[in-house]
Amino acid sequence: MKIKIWGCRGSLATPGSATLRYGGNTTCLEIRDGGGRLVVVDAGSGARDLGKAILADPSVSEITLVLTHSHWDHLAGFPFFSPVYLPQYTISICGGPNAQQSLQKYLTRQMEPPFFPVAFHLLKARFKFDCHEPSGSAECHARLVGDLGSLRCHSIPLNHPNGGYGFKFTEQGRTFVFLTDNELDYEHQEGVPRSEYVEFCRGADLLIHDSQYTAEEYQITRGWGHTTYGDACDLAVEAGVKRLGLFHHDPDRTDDQLDQQVVWCRQRILSAGGGLEVFACAEGMTVEV
Ligand SMILES: [Zn+2]
Ligand SMILES: [Zn+2]
Repeated sequence: MKIKIWGCRGSLATPGSATLRYGGNTTCLEIRDGGGRLVVVDAGSGARDLGKAILADPSVSEITLVLTHSHWDHLAGFPFFSPVYLPQYTISICGGPNAQQSLQKYLTRQMEPPFFPVAFHLLKARFKFDCHEPSGSAECHARLVGDLGSLRCHSIPLNHPNGGYGFKFTEQGRTFVFLTDNELDYEHQEGVPRSEYVEFCRGADLLIHDSQYTAEEYQITRGWGHTTYGDACDLAVEAGVKRLGLFHHDPDRTDDQLDQQVVWCRQRILSAGGGLEVFACAEGMTVEV
């Protein structure tokens, strides 16, 4: 599968001279399976440019949109995602277990007056809210969402205020885990124990994980739903993942500071005995898994 990053900024879109290299748009990923089928993860402000790219690609008429949760920075790009206004697109909207009903409600609500001039029911694309949700086993919170093209998709609850889901995409033995807005060193009532995240990520070819804060910042931001660079690195080492992408960059984090954090993370991983590759996700980046 191929993953393209259209937005990796956390909390709020942050354009400006200090974020040119890593980008200022909020969460949006494009995944193409081996057959070229399109899965979009989250509709942050990065979804606007992705929408334009889809319009220029005549091979796409079906889009699966997987949503992690309904915080603004993951939904605000939806009303600016051009395919929603065009009848030739069918858009299947998927979330984790228990989220399927609420997704339609929250997408509709954010477009109600006076928040937005076009109501959801006026959109022209064909929407489906019927992702398959088989029940999971009692001892494990990881659940099968279903098959999205040739990608098998599992979910796990996020440790984050108001909840949400992380996802694991598997195709022909290759695995990509996406855990944004996930705090590893704090117990939110919606989350699961850290050991379950370790198992969920076990042996992944690529893990993209929230890494919004430095340890110093975390003295103030603990409990806000995001993870430190150190905790993200430690999870990746413990789970034996092969590559780690740092994600959900703090709005105040400059490009130069992100470069420094990548160097810091490399040291941390080496001193923990790990050999995995670490990089900071950047807008426009494509990663093959
Ligand atoms: Zn977020
Ligand atoms: Zn969030």
